[in-house]
Amino acid sequence: MAHELPPLPYAKNALEPSIDAQTMEIHHDKHHGAYVANLNKAIAGNATLEGKSLEALLRDLASVPDNIRTAVRNNGGGHFNHTLFWKLMAPGAGGAPTGKLADSLHAAFGSFDDFKAKFETAGMGRFGSGWAWLVVNGGQLEIVSTANQDNPVMGKAIAGCDGKPVLGCDVWEHAYYLKYQNRRADYLQAFFHVVNWDYVSSKFTEKA
Ligand code: MN
Repeated sequence: MAHELPPLPYAKNALEPSIDAQTMEIHHDKHHGAYVANLNKAIAGNATLEGKSLEALLRDLASVPDNIRTAVRNNGGGHFNHTLFWKLMAPGAGGAPTGKLADSLHAAFGSFDDFKAKFETAGMGRFGSGWAWLVVNGGQLEIVSTANQDNPVMGKAIAGCDGKPVLGCDVWEHAYYLKYQNRRADYLQAFFHVVNWDYVSSKFTEKA
């Protein structure tokens, strides 16, 4: 079963004015679409890899043959990260989380605003292309960032960090350049206006 591009869970203009419709269209249809197509191309003919879930593939990149490992890492990572990213945002969302996630963010970072500032610093500090993440690692909330399409599920040896991602923000220029040009800080602020905290909370509290 080939990997498939999931539809956006809302209309392309649903996140305006924070994220514009043209960016959403190109980002989802072209960028995410290409990651899916190139992942399928890379693993075509390898029945073992074709039989694995996307996450299982990323968790064991070491077992992927040398000649396609980089393609699987980049395109499989891209598919995984974007599939999560669309669900982490929603129209009419934003604000601040409540419940267990809110309590845990306060405990880990001091306050929601302190968390947000630290997350934005992680996004600003990622030179070039990559992602900022909030992860659960050994029961603790941590903020990390990865280069390119790496993801904490790939593990420390590859991604430089590990843990289960519960929130992530794409800081590639393709995620914001049409509307925000070089102003990544403005984009990060806008991202927080559309974060779907209900979904982030469900990722945080789900078992394993
Ligand atoms: Mn992207």
